[in-house]
Amino acid sequence: MPKSYDGFFKRKDLLIELAVVMVIFVIIGGAVFLYLARDTDTTDEDICHTNQRRIEGAARMFKARTGEWPDEIEQIIDYSPLDKIPICPEGKEYDMVFHNDDLTVDCEIHGYYRDQ
Ligand SMILES: [Zn+2]
Repeated sequence: MPKSYDGFFKRKDLLIELAVVMVIFVIIGGAVFLYLARDTDTTDEDICHTNQRRIEGAARMFKARTGEWPDEIEQIIDYSPLDKIPICPEGKEYDMVFHNDDLTVDCEIHGYYRDQ
């Protein structure tokens, strides 16, 4: 076999190997991306549910001191260590919902933490 053919086949093998390596990187990159995307969603939900617990805690503190539930969510700020009313990481404000003599803090996106 002439030397030029030998060089051609070696270069072709190299291109195939490079292509295989690139495909492997794309697969790994896709898997890492999916993992990180999922992890971010979970973190936002965790933050949201933690915010709900903090608002509920402050509202219960309000009720313990005043004997009534707050009418507006802003009223709890003086009865809690919070600097400001937390909002969902997705940017939504929370709704306080009263059932019987209890309160839940609802998020349109992440739901209520006790329902999870
Ligand atoms: Zn939320």
